[in-house]
Amino acid sequence: MSQSDRVIIIGGGIIGLLTARELRRRGHDVIVLDAGSGCDTASSGNAGIIAPGHFPIASPRQRSRAMKLLFDPDSPLYIPPRFNLPMLRWLYGFRRACHPRHYGHAVEVLNRLSRISSEGWQEFMSVDSPRAIADTLRAVGSLEVFCEERTGEAASMDAQVLQRDGFDTELIDGEELRRRDPAFSNEVIGALVHPGHIITQPDRLLSAIEDHVMELGVVVQHGHAVERILADEHTCHGVLIDDDQLVEGGTVVIAAGIWSDGLAGHHGVRVPMQPAKGYHVMVDMDAPPSLACVCRESMVAVNSMDDGVRLAGTLELSGINHRMAQRRLDLLVKGAARCVKGIEDAPILQKWTGMRPCTSDGLPVIGPMPSMAGTWVATGHGMMGITLGPVTALLLAQMIDGDTTEMDVVPMSADRFN
Ligand SMILES: Cc1cc2nc3c(=O)[nH]c(=O)nc-3n(C[C@H](O)[C@H](O)[C@H](O)COP(=O)(O)OP(=O)(O)OC[C@H]3O[C@@H](n4cnc5c(N)ncnc54)[C@H](O)[C@@H]3O)c2cc1C
Repeated sequence: MSQSDRVIIIGGGIIGLLTARELRRRGHDVIVLDAGSGCDTASSGNAGIIAPGHFPIASPRQRSRAMKLLFDPDSPLYIPPRFNLPMLRWLYGFRRACHPRHYGHAVEVLNRLSRISSEGWQEFMSVDSPRAIADTLRAVGSLEVFCEERTGEAASMDAQVLQRDGFDTELIDGEELRRRDPAFSNEVIGALVHPGHIITQPDRLLSAIEDHVMELGVVVQHGHAVERILADEHTCHGVLIDDDQLVEGGTVVIAAGIWSDGLAGHHGVRVPMQPAKGYHVMVDMDAPPSLACVCRESMVAVNSMDDGVRLAGTLELSGINHRMAQRRLDLLVKGAARCVKGIEDAPILQKWTGMRPCTSDGLPVIGPMPSMAGTWVATGHGMMGITLGPVTALLLAQMIDGDTTEMDVVPMSADRFN
């Protein structure tokens, strides 16, 4: 095979690795170039809930709250006053996406993506799947718990949409929840049960997928930042890494999470996203909830893992940086402690922050890059990158191979921004 047949994937997060797997299974020669170590980005530090049917952040409920979010550092979605043009454009798009018509469309597209992706995750749990991957996935469902009537009403409306779109859900009251699992506090007045959710430990999942793709013959190289893509309207030659070293390849996939926009920007192409910074703390607890849960008021997820219980969440639009704000970390403990007993005094074992790649319209970007021959993009998954990993890989591989795609890909195209 000549070097021009090679596919270069930029980014070794969940999206890059699953895309590498899908392309390798279809017979492509694939190399993944990743700037990091493989264990330090959103794909390894997230909450670990594969949640088909998760709703976009931009919703009619957020529309009227925009000003509150701007100035309230205790809000689950916080935008510190930091204005630049890309941010203002993004906020404008976000506000538009909160309109009921846009929101309805986004939910429809995300739910279709979710259903196809669920099949991909089911395949990973089948007997033919590598044991190391299957062992990190537990098809036990998850919960969204709530403490306020207002949030309960919203949960009830969401349950109707989920049922309409074919996702199993059950609404139960606080008494029933505590009967099933006494870990929940008396403040909790109800819960949405999602039997179809899958729970994982993200760092173990990512490393098992990386081992698997390497066994399939994919080359994965960490510590190599791609500086430039060598593509014009007619040809793609490959990429330049580190000290202007050329890596040849006729096809390039940008799967570099929040850094994707910067790479595309060299070519005057826009994939406008904001980094939605999230945090996790690992705590040591004796009796965590048996199912992972999200506390709806604070949007904090609680997921029990091998090395402690992970409290994960918050969205902070403060630019690309890894600064940790103690106030936001404290909110994780406070938000979770309202719903789950014994968290307030649990010793903290570890703190982490990472960035979700968020588009303003809540939809991922999956498809060809405008004006860049042989160059593709897969990013912008926001809060759903793990959930939507398999469908992203499938759709992109189908497009690269010129096959009919499993669903209409127009809503995800990079053209929508250019
Ligand atoms: C707190 C938190 C909780 C979350 N919970 C969930 C959840 O429960 N369920 C869910 O589905 N999703 C969740 N998410 C979202 C999910 O983690 C992300 O959507 C997903 O990990 C994005 O994956 P990615 O591969 O696109 O990007 P990343 O994981 O960011 O990976 C991008 C990779 O590209 C590499 N890279 C960057 N620039 C370059 C370059 N120039 N050259 C080479 N490599 C480069 C980086 O080193 C990195 O390894 C959560 C996120 C956070 C922060």
